[in-house]
Amino acid sequence: MLFHSTRGKDKNKTFEEVLMQGLANDGGLFMPDNWPQVDLEEIKKLKSFIDIAKYIVPMFTNSSFTDEEVSKVLDDTWHDFEEEDLIKIFEIDESSSILELFHGPTAAFKDFGLQLAAAFFNKTLQDKNKTAIVFGATSGDTGSAAIDACKEFSVIKSFILIPDGNMSEIQRKQMTTVDKPNVFPILVSGSFDDCQDIVKKGFSDRSFLKNDQYLLAVNSINWVRIIGQICYYFYASLKVNKFSEPLNFSVPTGNFGNVFACYAASKMGMPLSKIIVAVNSNDILDRFFKSNDYSKDKVNETISPSMDISVASNFERLIYDYYLDRDSDLCSELYQDFPLKSIHLNESIWKKSTNLFLSYSVDDNSTYECMKFYYNNLKYIMDPHTAVAANAVTKLETELRKKTIILSTAHPAKFPLPLKNAGINLKNIPKNLEKVMNKKEVSFKLSTSNNSIFEFIKENNQ
Ligand SMILES: *Cc1c(COP(=O)(O)O)cnc(C)c1O
Repeated sequence: MLFHSTRGKDKNKTFEEVLMQGLANDGGLFMPDNWPQVDLEEIKKLKSFIDIAKYIVPMFTNSSFTDEEVSKVLDDTWHDFEEEDLIKIFEIDESSSILELFHGPTAAFKDFGLQLAAAFFNKTLQDKNKTAIVFGATSGDTGSAAIDACKEFSVIKSFILIPDGNMSEIQRKQMTTVDKPNVFPILVSGSFDDCQDIVKKGFSDRSFLKNDQYLLAVNSINWVRIIGQICYYFYASLKVNKFSEPLNFSVPTGNFGNVFACYAASKMGMPLSKIIVAVNSNDILDRFFKSNDYSKDKVNETISPSMDISVASNFERLIYDYYLDRDSDLCSELYQDFPLKSIHLNESIWKKSTNLFLSYSVDDNSTYECMKFYYNNLKYIMDPHTAVAANAVTKLETELRKKTIILSTAHPAKFPLPLKNAGINLKNIPKNLEKVMNKKEVSFKLSTSNNSIFEFIKENNQ
């Protein structure tokens, strides 16, 4: 299985190349050359999440690693989860369940993708006897999951830019209390977008790298993260109804990585009814699905900060695969002047949306109402991101047939302020988070000017 870019120029890449490169050279996103097909009868025989991963992951890695090598990597990939089989499923009633993906060390679903990425980074670096720098920016959960996933691998040094802004105290502390010599949390006075700009500059500048050293991206466009997420859709379908009927999945969405993994699972043979694209008031995706208008707007700060985005980077993969039938010339054309020029698809192509997608934009008020509803009626405490997905299901109820799975992407303890505002009293805090709260914070405060960040990386990359 080889990979190519959505813009067509960068192609015939192995898994390892795609893993280490992140973004394609032509500015596009990597896609597998075809969709590998899952034998549902075979996967039905499997039990644990790891068993399923051992079935799915090798389909994408065989250009670089043998099945035995992958199996060995996967035995140690997902660690420090507080659930035996990593995931818990909470049944609300006959028509809906909540897929709890937050039992990992950083209490957000990003542990699934980033622990897989880190395991393969480490394997590749070890095999080649090389080292790497991870350089990224975070608005919350990506940074902590990346740092945690890489911290035990001495061949990787992580430099993560943390904007002062809409992040919860506990999210920041997850990054600043790690206390490892290969981890550098950098506090920057600026917005997430400012931080992203510096990271982008870093990826073209590269002056802080040693000879032959890799510079690794951990943002959600890395294909390996999608693979890790595909696994839990198959897991959920297996556990909920053994693939006997197509399910709906409601996904709280920012950069569209999680939704795309659901779409990918369906292309690989998982029965799927509808995907509900649930967003907060940052509604670029809702505007696309409702009115064929994919245009960048300013970012609104909400109580679900991990979905506060102005564009959804992984959406290009859906445009390319689903709407354009893998026509890379058309895809390049559409993205050439985006976001300056917004994207509107040919009306007849866009109409396909309703076969598979529903969308809803949930504002902060409705998010609070939903958190309160579940707390008061079911004694179930959910975080604001999960509540966006849950509320979208309520709003779209009349359009849904069959059972719906609501993805819960973060543990509520990560967002104490919205909980408090909703009058919800959370008693059980995951051990992983409790540890973090009482530790001393260590971070580096740097200015965004004069390349001081690149200098800092260079000094600490001896
Ligand atoms: C990152 C994140 C999301 C959004 O996921 P995407 O794959 O970017 O759409 C939703 N909820 C939480 C808690 C997150 O951390």
